[in-house]
Amino acid sequence: MKFTSYKNWLNERQSINIDGLNVPIHIVKKKDWSEGKKDPTEFSDEEDAVRVRDDYDYKKDPTGWMRHEMIHYKLHHTTGWKDDEKEYPYNSTEAQAYIYQFKYLKKKGYKNYKDVPGFDKSAEYDNILNKYWQNV
Ligand SMILES: [Zn+2]
Repeated sequence: MKFTSYKNWLNERQSINIDGLNVPIHIVKKKDWSEGKKDPTEFSDEEDAVRVRDDYDYKKDPTGWMRHEMIHYKLHHTTGWKDDEKEYPYNSTEAQAYIYQFKYLKKKGYKNYKDVPGFDKSAEYDNILNKYWQNV
């Protein structure tokens, strides 16, 4: 699902400072969120911003997703950064994003990403996510 209109998006455009980086965000109503998408945030190349579902507390960032998307935004603007283009979540961009997110969650005291409330616990990517967690 795309944003309602470019004009609306420009009107709503705001930004938040995440770990010293100013990141444009776009708050999206829950009813307009991508169908079937469990995570409350996503980086959009098209909007060059982090889209945030309006029920997620992006200021407190309890699940660390803002940190994750911040890396997407940052790498998108890093001259010379080249993703290895493996599939999600095995590619080099996701590795960076998850490791940064997990660093933040470990600092908050979590011993396993599965203990984080609101984190999708589906087993599909468990091996790789565990690997990222161990590498933090
Ligand atoms: Zn990601």
